[in-house]
Amino acid sequence: MPDIFAEIKKHLPADADISDTAFEGANIILYTKNKEFFLQRNTVIRDIVSIIKKRIELRPDPSLCMDLEQAEIEIKKILPAEAGVTSVLFDPARSVAVIEAEKPGLVIGKQGEILRDIKSKTFWVPEVHRTPIIRSKIIENIRGVLYQTNDYRKKFLNKVGHRIYDGWVRERKEEWVRVTFLGGGRQVGRSCIFLQTPESRILLDCGVNTAFNDQNAYPYVDCPEFKIEELDAIIISHAHLDHSGFVPFLFRMGYRGPVYCTAPTRDISALLALDFIGVAFKQAKKGLFDVDDVKEMVKHTICLGWEEVTDITPDMRITFYNSGHILGSSMIHIHIGNGLHNLLYTGDMKYLRTRLLDPAVTSFPRLETVIIESTYGGKTDILGSRSEAELKFIKSIDAAAKRGGKILVPVLGVGRAQEILVVVEKAIREGLIQPIPVYLQGMVWDITAIHTAYPEFLNQQLRKSIFHRADNPFLSDIFKRVGSRKEQDDIIESEQPCILVATAGMMNAGASLEYFRRLADNPKNLLIFVSYQSENTIGKKVQNGEKQIQLNYGDKPEIITVRMELVTITEFTGHAGRNELLRFVHNLNPKPKRIIVNHGESTKCIELASTFHKINKLETCAPKNLETIRIK
Ligand code: ZN
Repeated sequence: MPDIFAEIKKHLPADADISDTAFEGANIILYTKNKEFFLQRNTVIRDIVSIIKKRIELRPDPSLCMDLEQAEIEIKKILPAEAGVTSVLFDPARSVAVIEAEKPGLVIGKQGEILRDIKSKTFWVPEVHRTPIIRSKIIENIRGVLYQTNDYRKKFLNKVGHRIYDGWVRERKEEWVRVTFLGGGRQVGRSCIFLQTPESRILLDCGVNTAFNDQNAYPYVDCPEFKIEELDAIIISHAHLDHSGFVPFLFRMGYRGPVYCTAPTRDISALLALDFIGVAFKQAKKGLFDVDDVKEMVKHTICLGWEEVTDITPDMRITFYNSGHILGSSMIHIHIGNGLHNLLYTGDMKYLRTRLLDPAVTSFPRLETVIIESTYGGKTDILGSRSEAELKFIKSIDAAAKRGGKILVPVLGVGRAQEILVVVEKAIREGLIQPIPVYLQGMVWDITAIHTAYPEFLNQQLRKSIFHRADNPFLSDIFKRVGSRKEQDDIIESEQPCILVATAGMMNAGASLEYFRRLADNPKNLLIFVSYQSENTIGKKVQNGEKQIQLNYGDKPEIITVRMELVTITEFTGHAGRNELLRFVHNLNPKPKRIIVNHGESTKCIELASTFHKINKLETCAPKNLETIRIK
């Protein structure tokens, strides 16, 4: 038995009657056969937590749990009807009852009184999940995978706990910390950082570069020091494929350790991975991984909230902080070796309040090294005012709507799309745009649904309007889902003005391409670019002002004449512009000793690193892929 259990038992009363102990990741679970002790546990357990500084949960031994059917009736009787309970599921091996409800706050009750009531009447431990207000197949599927694999999950989480608490397994002669860039060094795409200490082997992000089809698309996991069987954990900053898209492949290669991320990151990564398989399928390419590999990823994911401190190995403790980029996106703070070193990896970040998210956090308990992104870190990447950009966006839409035009906004499914929905909903509600329908296609709808499941990751204002005023912008009836080809045709052929929010963001494929093809030659229509357009994409050509665009539509080439109005608005980006990056580093508290710049074009990484060196008097560098830096 690991020392930690022996240590806890020393502090328990003689009649605690502990029948079993287990780990759930870094959480320590005690099962008791003593009903009284279970119900009065609060103070005893709280005291032990304050001594050993680990999360401990006391649960009733499964033999105490009320019969399932009876418990379900009892729980439904206790819960108020307004809570909107959609399901109660039981995990008997863990004595846990999972309650899904539209209003989790009402399930919890004032200071948790309803949860306490459930515990004392049924001897089940309630766990509350929010039912997405917009139905989402993907969330249902993910939760389904987790319920179906309850027994496996229990064993897996226990194994993860043993890795954390059983002590050092590798030899330690001296202490050191190294980071190796397996991807994302002086480039945007395939972010992947290999973090090593004598004891731990960790990946920070593991993405693909979707602009390539060859070896350049994947991180250098074939480098000699990386051995998948030695990997302790993968930590994902956010769901975009260039940060998460290679993870299912590691499962294909046999990885069965934990993946740490926030709950929205898990859901959106799974959705994007499944979509990625779909794209490969359409192009008749052999996929990198299949649906089963994505399921394995979900099964092995451990979700953490922001600012929840968690041990992941004997010498590493991680905490996620809001990075302001997309729903659930996080900066990863890693406390290494009990005070030896503190590393912050920003992932992709935004240091400005947006309609959706709060700005990235700048205060940390301790900080020595920062790995920062530089997508818009170049000297010319100065973003204009966001409120002016919004006004320009609204005015162009309004003008196009008034002349009876259709407005096409090509988007990546995640991030900008939802930002735009919030802006448009507000503008229509305030009468700045005449009331016209906003059509959402496929993935945009699913990802919007995921946003409604996790309001706690949205900015304060949006969260408030969703929680307190039942005023959820995503539920506005101006938003319509386009489900079929027929509906799409009807929309295009109708005389009515409307807004079309559709993927792909660069119009290479998907609904946005189809809309463009059929709306381009009418000068009444409007095309608004709000996301980054890569070279050689249809989006880039149109943005550059080419009036004749050749498409390979179906079998035969087709020439499209562009007469529709074009507007580009870069300020909606989810990345920090150069000034934001400089301000972010300036405001970091405490001030770090070293800055490592990655995730940007070569010249931007190098130039930004040199600027940080000059302004902040810090040690800086911009490593190439496969370069290793010893940070301690
Ligand atoms: Zn991103």
